[in-house]
Amino acid sequence: MTRRALVLGLILAGGVLAAAAAQQPPLGKIEKVADGLYRIPGQGGATAVYLAGNGVVLVDTKLANNGQGILDQVRTVTDKPVTMIINTHTHGDHTGSNMFFPANVEIVTHENTKANMEKMPVYQDPANKNGMPDRTYKDRLTLLGGNDAIDLYYFGPAHTNGDTFVVFRNRRVLHAGDVFANTAQPFIDVSNGGSGLAYGETIGKAAAAIKNIDTVITGHTDVKKWQDFVDYGEFNRLFLQHARASLKAGRTPEQAMATLQLPAKFKGYTLTGGRGGPGGNFNVIYQELQKSQ
Ligand SMILES: [Zn+2]
Repeated sequence: MTRRALVLGLILAGGVLAAAAAQQPPLGKIEKVADGLYRIPGQGGATAVYLAGNGVVLVDTKLANNGQGILDQVRTVTDKPVTMIINTHTHGDHTGSNMFFPANVEIVTHENTKANMEKMPVYQDPANKNGMPDRTYKDRLTLLGGNDAIDLYYFGPAHTNGDTFVVFRNRRVLHAGDVFANTAQPFIDVSNGGSGLAYGETIGKAAAAIKNIDTVITGHTDVKKWQDFVDYGEFNRLFLQHARASLKAGRTPEQAMATLQLPAKFKGYTLTGGRGGPGGNFNVIYQELQKSQ
């Protein structure tokens, strides 16, 4: 790439980021989810704030330049220092303010998320090195202990190939990240290893293995109940089932969307006018199905 193209690319990337920041709701006020566990909405993915014995654990750090805003909200509930950050996945609206926090704050992600972050231009800049993960895991990892225990789980690709389910064991709360961003078609980020073929199955594995959850912090909308999360897995499996049948029947993605019929419990879901245009996720799932044949 020429220097001019590189500079132009950086300007464009900056413009995209600025546009993304402008589209996101402003940083919201911290709100209680459970005892010693809070959530800060806005400016990207929901940040969980967990008051552990030795310090504060954050899950996700929103878009860039929100570090001080996050810390200001944390300071309204505790004076303890931030000691750990868990990133649910690689996206810049969940990892964007990692580097605001001091280098001794331990950052934990799935190993594939670390690999995905290494590809991000922002983390190729040595100045942002302290925002990169310090510790990774493969299938499961328990952090802290006793009453503070946090369990990290990985069940395979969905939104990306590095999606962590964060369980605050004794608070009966799951942070599902963007695997469950909202009650709509998910963003399947194929460029970061996401998969529409695996999506519903991955949620099904999580639903079968994770126990004793009441409340689910979602990537980008209000908290949900455990059953909503379980149902979201079913939604994605039914969506895939219809994609397979529609491709076989020779329907276009648009026709697949038009003929999608779902149980009544999904009537509040946003299916049209969103991601992928009139064909929605059938576009990306068709491509995956055709590749796997
Ligand atoms: Zn995401």
